[in-house]
Amino acid sequence: MKKRKARIVVVGSANVDLTTFTDKFPKPGETLFGKSFDLGFGGKGANQAVAAAYCGADVHMVARVGDDLFGPATIKNFKRLGIGAKHVKSVKGSSGVAPIFVEANGQNRILVVKGANDKLTPKAVNKAKSLLKKADMIVMQFEIPLETIYHTVTLAKRYKIPVILNPAPAMQVDLDKIQSVDYFIPNETEAEAITGKKVQTVDDAKQCAEYLMSKGLRRVILTLGERGALLANRDGMELVAPFKVKAIDSTGAGDAFIGSFAVFLGEGYDERDAIARANLYAAMSTMGIGTQKSFVKRRRFEREWKKRAS
Ligand code: ADP
Repeated sequence: MKKRKARIVVVGSANVDLTTFTDKFPKPGETLFGKSFDLGFGGKGANQAVAAAYCGADVHMVARVGDDLFGPATIKNFKRLGIGAKHVKSVKGSSGVAPIFVEANGQNRILVVKGANDKLTPKAVNKAKSLLKKADMIVMQFEIPLETIYHTVTLAKRYKIPVILNPAPAMQVDLDKIQSVDYFIPNETEAEAITGKKVQTVDDAKQCAEYLMSKGLRRVILTLGERGALLANRDGMELVAPFKVKAIDSTGAGDAFIGSFAVFLGEGYDERDAIARANLYAAMSTMGIGTQKSFVKRRRFEREWKKRAS
């Protein structure tokens, strides 16, 4: 079945991950030599945009970067990946950065400095109105100001453009202001933080999804790691089965799921099929190390899908 190309607009964050590997963490006042260093592009918005671009969509980013070394590099990276960056603008101050320290035992400590991401204001989104109007799907996360999310949800409703909202990282949100989103997609931790209900078993997840639906949300997808994803809509609930893989690093699995799901849905797959496909795309990302670096291209995904989905 030949599908049309999806046009995805991500209104979200762009960060630079600064990862330092060390055998030992310095004590206060102490200076040590670290072992190695890795600089990579990250941020949930950017990650999801990259996953969507690898899945073959026409992807555009609405974001803010700082007037430091990382700003132009981030924009250049979007362009290199074929992601529209006309609405990625530079503002005064630092870019969003995530200094990450990884100790020999794999334990990590991460600080996220939101920097320019905090300056993605409702006004900034208004400047991208003509782009938003033409989208098949608008995708957002919680690494930008909440007021910008509420504003964009309202705009999207006015333009009748579907919205996928990934409430990550977990934050208290006014559910009344996001009721019109088409898909609300938290993971277990985020669902717990938002609803105040424990999510350990699939039954817990069902109760949590039911609670979110009772608050007026239209569709909820709870991603459940190696247990797959739970879809709740007005017809009921369904656990969409995961794919078995040899997982070595699950960072970015959620971003792979959201970015690919937006594309499959935008291409016209029905929501159940789009979730099944996103389950496989995200599962494949857990077989590689890192976030964007672990995302596969569409051709490779389709080869695997052919083998697995029968
Ligand atoms: P996050 O990365 O936000 O914590 P999850 O852990 O829920 O999100 O993972 C997102 C999706 O990735 C899951 O719904 C599932 O489809 C897939 N996934 C994650 N971990 C695995 C795994 N170990 N095996 C198979 N699929 C996985």
